[in-house]
Amino acid sequence: MKKLELIYEGKAKRVYRTEDEDFYVMEFKDDATAFNGQKRGTIKGKGELNTKISAVFFEILEENGVKTHFERLLSDREMLVKAVKILPLEVIVRNLAAGSMAKRLGLQEGTKLKSPVLEFCYKSDELGDPMINAYHALAMDLATKEEIAFIEETSFKVNEILSQFLIKKNIILVDFKLEFGRFKGEILVADEISPDTCRFWDAKTMEKLDKDRFRRDLGNVEEAYKEILSRIKS
Ligand code: UDP
Repeated sequence: MKKLELIYEGKAKRVYRTEDEDFYVMEFKDDATAFNGQKRGTIKGKGELNTKISAVFFEILEENGVKTHFERLLSDREMLVKAVKILPLEVIVRNLAAGSMAKRLGLQEGTKLKSPVLEFCYKSDELGDPMINAYHALAMDLATKEEIAFIEETSFKVNEILSQFLIKKNIILVDFKLEFGRFKGEILVADEISPDTCRFWDAKTMEKLDKDRFRRDLGNVEEAYKEILSRIKS
């Protein structure tokens, strides 16, 4: 499929229009940012690794009845995706307290949560993606009531599917962020699912195998992303 003009460039990805209005090409970059763009850098090979890792996760979700925007891989860092209209919502699901939740609620990082937590954030770079609840999403007309119910149900389902898959690879799915898009009357899981958007801990050593290695200057960032790809491919 031929790549036409660039329609979106974000921190980690570019999206291009194609000859077919139903499809976009999503291209993954090596650039990494954290703390709302305040920390910048590149992680060698990240674009390629996140392309492959996301493809594996999207395929697993599809096999388990969750619809995603993923069509197929086009190259080492490009995938063909359905031309969804992304909802201005980030959905975070958490199994263990970490990152902003641990900080906000004074929980020790790694505290097991009695039940999974779902949070919504309003996608806005200027505002730093503030946390909102379903009432805000409805009041701000970010999604309909039916869409919100579907998104919540689907996000918990994604958590079940990916947690169960990953634990067999000795990886704990600590938390993750999903984005959803509208496409022909349906809501699809969109964007990416990768070490940039998930927290993955080694189940034995609790070693961090995700973007926290970059955020917190822990070193071996590229190696951690490679380790995730090799474990989920095995
Ligand atoms: N996350 C993300 N994009 C964001 C914010 C969070 O992909 O803009 C992911 C993050 O990688 C983690 C989860 O969502 O897996 C929860 O992140 P948290 O709220 O703890 O924020 P952070 O500690 O990343 O600031």
